[in-house]
Amino acid sequence: MRYVSTRGQAPHVGFVDAVLGGLAPDGGLYVPETWPQISAAEIAGFADMPYAEVAARVIGAFAENEIDKADLAEMCREAYGSFTHAATVPLVQLSPGVFLAELFHGPSLAFKDVAMQILARLYDHLLGGQGRNQTILCATSGDTGGAAVEAFRGAKNVKVVVLFPEGRISEVQRRFMTTATETNIACVAVKGSFDDCQAIVKNAFQDKSLRQAVDLSGVNSINFARIAAQAVYYFTTAAALGAPGRRVSFAVPSGNFGDAFAGYVAHRMGLPMGRILVATNSNDILAQTFETGRYARGKLTPTISPAMDIQSASNFERLYFEGVEREATETARAFEAFGKSGAIDVPPKAFAAMRELFRGAAVSEADTARAIVSTFNETGQLVDPHTAVALSALSRAKDIDGPVVVMSTAHAAKFPEAVGKASGVTPGLPRGVADLAARAERFDRLPAEAETIKAYVRAFAEG
Ligand SMILES: *Cc1c(COP(=O)(O)O)cnc(C)c1O
Repeated sequence: MRYVSTRGQAPHVGFVDAVLGGLAPDGGLYVPETWPQISAAEIAGFADMPYAEVAARVIGAFAENEIDKADLAEMCREAYGSFTHAATVPLVQLSPGVFLAELFHGPSLAFKDVAMQILARLYDHLLGGQGRNQTILCATSGDTGGAAVEAFRGAKNVKVVVLFPEGRISEVQRRFMTTATETNIACVAVKGSFDDCQAIVKNAFQDKSLRQAVDLSGVNSINFARIAAQAVYYFTTAAALGAPGRRVSFAVPSGNFGDAFAGYVAHRMGLPMGRILVATNSNDILAQTFETGRYARGKLTPTISPAMDIQSASNFERLYFEGVEREATETARAFEAFGKSGAIDVPPKAFAAMRELFRGAAVSEADTARAIVSTFNETGQLVDPHTAVALSALSRAKDIDGPVVVMSTAHAAKFPEAVGKASGVTPGLPRGVADLAARAERFDRLPAEAETIKAYVRAFAEG
């Protein structure tokens, strides 16, 4: 399987190089040249298979013969063995036809663990085999960093630098990053927003000298392996609810559009679907795009669902590329223009194609809090603010039929203040991490300046 860049100016690479490279050298994102297919019979069979086996099948479809099948199966068993629930991603019914997919039973209590746990094992396997060391630079809106630190701490061939926007993430989120004691981890509080952090990461990747000096790699959802790993739970949850015979829909709290795009990938691989409802908080660039066809950056507003405080959804470029029938020149033009002006119009034909699957909805802070309260009152479940955004969006959505799986992307205890304030009940941390607040923290503070941060990365990687 070969991978091409959405901007068409990078050499085609195999799965391994697409994973280890992260962002393509032309600034585009890697996508597979064709979408591998999974048959209806096989999808039906996923209903009673262990999660790790489905993961090995789905991820294996993208790696083909570049990774030994038995090795991949073992990596998946280990990765999902780190989850505290036997089903890995259990379904919990909330009301007739509405189910939560609990994606938060991994070590950092957020859905990012689902991809990061397997990604770290892939890196270890691939880099060890090549005798190579890499530096991972990662911008986080709160949860990617914690998941990356949990997955990579102590890794022999990888150093990790995490950039997070100072003061814009919850204390529990921060502590999942800053309390790691392993010396291959560095955390940086950046005086800026997540979008600033992400722009610095992009800048670093386009700096050839740095890229080579520290063998830079990325584990943001620009990394295609993460998308592949996230496609897995669309298959497992849909199969559990009767797919492929039944069309299941999904409601996805969305920020960088990685999770929702993984749903698109599952669909392109052969999973029949109703709709994917892309739910955002008041940072509604994606919700607006799917309703109006205009992808336009607004002012960034801090919310109680901070992992979605994003006004530039990296993975949208992948969907755009598909929407314009893989015209790389047009995709490059559009996203270079977006970089400059902050707004582009999706061509009408591409927009119509997107609307076949996607709908968008934005949710206010008050409605997010109301969804936490009503879900608790009606079901006894405490949901985190991100999940609440999706639930609130779903309660208003019109043309979503059939059973709906709501992606529950974080444990409520990751956002104790927001959940406690809305519901009157403060969720407690699970037993394994109950001492998080007592652990010592370690991080540096830097301004949102690309050159300063690149120098820091270079020094850490070489030190
Ligand atoms: C990252 C994250 C999201 C958004 O996922 P994207 O793939 O960036 O769209 C939603 N909820 C939580 C809790 C997250 O950590």
